Amino acid sequence: MTAPSPTPVGDVADRASAAFRTGYGEPPAGRWAAPGRVNLIGEHTDYNDGYVLPFALPLRTVVAAAPQPGTTWTVRSELTGEPVTFGVDEVTGAGRVPGWAGYVAGVVWALRAAGHPVPGARLAVASDVPLGAGLSSSAALEAAVLAALVDLGGLDLPADAQPRLAQRAENEYVGAPTGIMDQSAVIRCRAGHALFLDCRTEAVDHIPFDLAAAGLAVLVVDSRAPHRHADGEYAARRAACERAARVLGVPALRDVGVADLAAALDRLPDDETRRRLRHVVTENQRVLDTVDLLRAGRIREIGPLLTASHTSMRDDFEITVPEVDTAVEAALAAGALGARMTGGGFGGCVLALVDAAAADSVATAVATAYAARGFAAPTHFTALPTHGTTQMQGRAPC
Ligand code: ADP
Ligand code: MG
Repeated sequence: MTAPSPTPVGDVADRASAAFRTGYGEPPAGRWAAPGRVNLIGEHTDYNDGYVLPFALPLRTVVAAAPQPGTTWTVRSELTGEPVTFGVDEVTGAGRVPGWAGYVAGVVWALRAAGHPVPGARLAVASDVPLGAGLSSSAALEAAVLAALVDLGGLDLPADAQPRLAQRAENEYVGAPTGIMDQSAVIRCRAGHALFLDCRTEAVDHIPFDLAAAGLAVLVVDSRAPHRHADGEYAARRAACERAARVLGVPALRDVGVADLAAALDRLPDDETRRRLRHVVTENQRVLDTVDLLRAGRIREIGPLLTASHTSMRDDFEITVPEVDTAVEAALAAGALGARMTGGGFGGCVLALVDAAAADSVATAVATAYAARGFAAPTHFTALPTHGTTQMQGRAPC
């Protein structure tokens, strides 16, 4: 198993500065960073107006930036080579800048649509967040770009308004239908805490999650399973939830509590819809139970809730694949306190709550199980909860 530990923030920040200098022939005015995130528990609850509990990873996307005169934006990424330049025409209508730079143009578009005078800018992006692994590299890119433009332009956009704006960039400009969790997590998370987010009200609470003090770690395993039909299956799950809410006469499945579950199940027409409902209702309750345990300082005891979440995703919501099931089973057999797939499903990452000293042996057990099943070797890292968007080292040349 290759085991890339997260690159220290300094390295990725240096790479962003170097990319800026090489690309534009001068130092940046500043650097802004946003983390990837992982969802501790609460899967497919966001679009049901429910609860999620993500935390920020020590993997970051850093944008080095400087203003440039007029209304033109140029962006380069160490991952893509060629710079992309766009002007006002490309940000008057959604989707006009295709590909990866669309996430950047989308932020400019959303800011302008909200009436902010966005300054022209040059940007260079470096990142340690793996792309497309379900760790939210897209929100990290949006959030870092947004922070850079807000600071460079002296725009009046408080942090609690930024997630919604970044989400618009991704939903409406790029055209990716995501909930509010990713952007909220990468912008608002605090070190040593998980972010308890009510997706209906967007209220957040910072829940103590001091893994290091408890001698624990979260092991994140990238299953490297190819995403099979993920978009179509996601749409089907959403449709099933909306169908159930209609039949039950509630605005969203968040309005069904565990106490109402048995009666609600009886009113649904088919077994598949019943299982979808059961996942959402019990998953929301697991988030609430996890928050209660964490508030009480009983971190170790959340393990069974994580594992129950996985079982529910596997059997009721049917969004797991053999690679992630294998990783969860192997992690538990090797002594993890709990383990679950995290993210939308059909691949992506698995997280396991482990004694810090056991992280390596659990990772090795997962790799061994993978090899025995003939799966491509997974990658892994351990994660302690870190903080959301930051401006690094002020505005001085760096
Ligand atoms: P995830 O958010 O789970 O990583 P997404 O499919 O939502 O996966 O977003 C990944 C996309 O975001 C990439 O394909 C790319 O277009 C864009 N992206 C994210 N980070 C970068 C980066 N550092 N450089 C260039 N493009 C990036
Ligand atoms: Mg994403």
